[in-house]
Amino acid sequence: MQPISGTTRLAGVIGHPLAHSLSPAMHNAVYEELGLDWVYVPLHVKDEIGLRRVVAAIQSLPFMGFNVTMPFKQAMLELCDEVAMAASMAGAVNTVHCVDGRLVGYNTDGRGLLEALKDEAGFEPAGKDVVICGAGGAAGAALVGLMLAQAASITIVNRNIDGAEELLDRVRPHMNAVRVQAVSAMAAEETVRAADLLVNATPVGMRPDDDSPIPVQWVGPGQVVYDMIYGRTTALVSGARAQGALALDGLGMLVAQGATAVDIWNESKQVRASRATMRAAAEAQLTAHEQDGR
Ligand code: NAP
Repeated sequence: MQPISGTTRLAGVIGHPLAHSLSPAMHNAVYEELGLDWVYVPLHVKDEIGLRRVVAAIQSLPFMGFNVTMPFKQAMLELCDEVAMAASMAGAVNTVHCVDGRLVGYNTDGRGLLEALKDEAGFEPAGKDVVICGAGGAAGAALVGLMLAQAASITIVNRNIDGAEELLDRVRPHMNAVRVQAVSAMAAEETVRAADLLVNATPVGMRPDDDSPIPVQWVGPGQVVYDMIYGRTTALVSGARAQGALALDGLGMLVAQGATAVDIWNESKQVRASRATMRAAAEAQLTAHEQDGR
């Protein structure tokens, strides 16, 4: 890590819990490579009162920007002075740029997903049929990203259909020609079987005994399955691979959303943050967690 001095600028991640966060390792590795006099720290906050206090403090401190993770991405939207269109459509902010005391909110998760799909699966969404499991912040970001990338149709599968309809109502005015619908998991078989891409944007799979969010028998060869969960091979990823689909975990998206945040904060824009450096740091951190038994 670069030596910390009186001129070092700050960045960090606000969330709860953060013990397993890979972001400090990823960010500090790439700041060093880029020669940036920045340091990235975990900002553990228990509740929305804590979130408001930390965000107020950040405005008086030399922060470049910060990331926001579960469970505060939706609450952060209200605390920004300005919000980029994609973040406002997704209903969630995961990256904030501090500009002259103002907080400008972005959502880099959608771009992260698109980048990972392209780099790891050669998948281009234009004209494709997509199913997204979940209707929270990550699903919103995926929906907006895939919509802007001109997917032909997007189906949201969620246990709470009202939540899925709310998400669709927010983005519908910007939909152009994309066909969208919300269905329950029980009614999703035909749509999943016909899809080009299935994205898991629920936390189902994070625990070792979790099943797949949809029956893996519904996917097969020719389909891409993207599980946003990383650091473990989920039942969805292993089952989809066994069925002949191309299945990826969420590490590439995590790396790309973080790298995009660095690119936003590093206004000189002459050099892009290296995805390879950030991925290597994330993988080393995952290995360290495994060795610690965490
Ligand atoms: P969130 O806002 O809390 O949304 C969670 C969604 O999952 C909701 O739609 C919820 O359904 C659904 N869900 C939760 N538990 C479920 C269960 N047991 N069965 C069925 N559905 C369930 O969370 P989020 O921020 O969107 O994050 C979702 C996942 O994506 C997390 O695992 C997160 O770590 C991951 N993620 C990964 C990346 C990456 O870079 N790889 C980035 C962002 C998020 P209801 O609406 O019915 O409650």
